Amino acid sequence: MTECQLSSQETVESLSVLPKDWQVDLRDLASLDITLSTLELIRRTTSRLPQDVIDALARGHAKEAQASRAANTLGTMLENVTLADHHVAPLCQDTGTVIFWVRHPFGVSQRALKQQIRQAVVEATKRSWLRPNCVAALSGKNAGNNLDPFHEGHPVIHFEEWDQAEVEVSIMLKGGGCENVGAQYRLPEASLGAGRDLKGVRKCIIDAVVKAQGQGCSPGILGVAIGGDRVTGYEKSKELLLRRLDAPNPDPGMDAFEKALAEDLNTLGIGPMGYGGRTTVLGVAVEEMFRHPASFYVSISYMCWSSRRMTLRLQNARPAIFE
Ligand code: SF4
Repeated sequence: MTECQLSSQETVESLSVLPKDWQVDLRDLASLDITLSTLELIRRTTSRLPQDVIDALARGHAKEAQASRAANTLGTMLENVTLADHHVAPLCQDTGTVIFWVRHPFGVSQRALKQQIRQAVVEATKRSWLRPNCVAALSGKNAGNNLDPFHEGHPVIHFEEWDQAEVEVSIMLKGGGCENVGAQYRLPEASLGAGRDLKGVRKCIIDAVVKAQGQGCSPGILGVAIGGDRVTGYEKSKELLLRRLDAPNPDPGMDAFEKALAEDLNTLGIGPMGYGGRTTVLGVAVEEMFRHPASFYVSISYMCWSSRRMTLRLQNARPAIFE
């Protein structure tokens, strides 16, 4: 399916910043250090698009009329994917807002892990794997190290303790252009004729994609949270972008909704980068949440075609797993 010739796993391993035969030691969780493995996670994520996204781009390319602007654009994207991988260079000049989700067993110091992740981000920025994207809101001043100049808001790190004996670190590089076209709706929404049901949700999603046109660097991937409050809805919608495009929604009804919606969105004619065509989105992931009886939010996060995400798994006495 893929039209990209990515470098072999052996090549990727040979370029790793982790020492050869490195294994994680999780026996003493309090002294766990994930700095180097997180740096390697960033290196791989910034330059290597996940295979399911490559496959979806290739499927879109095959569907477009030969030599059309859509086909040429998707062809250039696929060429870009190969070049970034071969040169271990950022896939896009915008390496985004850097977001982590860390799941860990009891006994880990979140404070220590946070400092290690921040150190890895600073080092990745020095090595030009990340662009310095973190500026003061009003002055635009850039310290050049990707750290929030006021608090510890960037990189964004979500922590969760779990029962498993392993540590999992997921990363997403969320581009600024696609972030700008995310949207949140409050139902009912009279201007769209959208009520508090799945039909209303569908109208919101179509509206967001129509308004985005090519500005989110389509073809896009949509994460949609139905419910929650204004914060948790957006958080969930973003987390949904970690889901593989070939992974079905565990709820069969929602899975059917997602697939039908993706097909409908691809008839809008917006196409790659807004140049027209049949490939406007690569996938849609929707999840229902709780809500306050008085509120009904639909929160939509839009991810561009350059959907850089990866998960690092650390299991005791085993090499780091990147997937
Ligand atoms: S939206 Fe995505 S593809 Fe477009 S410039 Fe930003 S990171 Fe790059």
